Amino acid sequence: MELNSMYVDELREFFEKNGEKAFRGSQLFTFFHDKKRYDIENSNLSNKVISIIKKEDINKVEIFKIFDSKLDETKKFLFKLKDDNLIEGVLMEYKHGYSQCISTQVGCRMGCNFCASTKSGLVRNLTAAEMLGQVYEIENTLGIKVSNFILMGSGEPLDNFSEVIRFIRLLHDEMGHNTSNRNITISTCGLADKIYELADMNLPINLAVSLHQTNDSDRSDLMPINRKFNLDELKKSLEYYIKKTNNRITFEYTLIKNQNDSKKNIDELYNFAKNMKCHINLIPLNPIDEFDEKRPSKSEINIFKEKLEKKGFNVTIRRELGRDISASCGQLRRKVEVK
Ligand code: SAH
Repeated sequence: MELNSMYVDELREFFEKNGEKAFRGSQLFTFFHDKKRYDIENSNLSNKVISIIKKEDINKVEIFKIFDSKLDETKKFLFKLKDDNLIEGVLMEYKHGYSQCISTQVGCRMGCNFCASTKSGLVRNLTAAEMLGQVYEIENTLGIKVSNFILMGSGEPLDNFSEVIRFIRLLHDEMGHNTSNRNITISTCGLADKIYELADMNLPINLAVSLHQTNDSDRSDLMPINRKFNLDELKKSLEYYIKKTNNRITFEYTLIKNQNDSKKNIDELYNFAKNMKCHINLIPLNPIDEFDEKRPSKSEINIFKEKLEKKGFNVTIRRELGRDISASCGQLRRKVEVK
């Protein structure tokens, strides 16, 4: 296993097994996750310890390219992985600090029609070190500390469950990045079986669910995952999650003109979510080449929002950041790779 994907206890055990003192594990953990360094040769570890470390894997991601939005404070990053795969990330600056969008897989196998990340399928899962590397590289390069993380880059986080949980726990570790769980959001297209698992872990993170359609037939057309876990099963898992964690969940709802913006959709959405502790985040569709649909106009979006509010929902419209740099989901990597 990669040394920089390991918990501190695992590193301590690793050194003990190699005839060294356990505290070397804590030292190495701090080196990776507090100092955010990889250059073991320049550490103050002994040559013997360094030679033990060098027999193992350390996974480093590199920033391949940075795109700066001219419209706002958003930056988009292309990262290059050890095997030359590219993933993307977005950094947004708000009054309260930085927020970073993390990729969890190279590509995705969920197949949602409107999403660019999934168009070439899943290449592979990222390791925890590769998710942490996205954070550390940005922080080291810009000299900043990021406080909020949303797992909404390419990939389906719950389809890479164990490494994503490892990433979150490592990011939360007070000897490392020390991020509050409350500042971490997982976004899922609705893997109900994993939502139960997540609920049972009692991890006080935020859960966002990509809903996008309000009845099984239309949702199955748009999001193939609905054929595996239909709205009823999704709802049951979310009710369990809310009961178990007492957290409010967020529904993401990408508005697609004449597809999911009708009165019928409002009524169905109401029936689906009326008894759930939730919040609805409306996302205007970002058109991609492979999905020939449009977003409703600004005023149509506002009317949709007001109608939902009249039903008693708490609704926001996602602010659009970095439009000039293809800041949404999977579009950039694809543009670079397809060229
Ligand atoms: N797989 C996870 C997280 C990645 S996508 C999920 O499905 O939630 C993050 C969000 O962006 C999801 O809500 C997704 O549906 C949405 N999204 C993807 N492509 C989009 C597009 N072209 N326009 C608007 N939203 C999009």
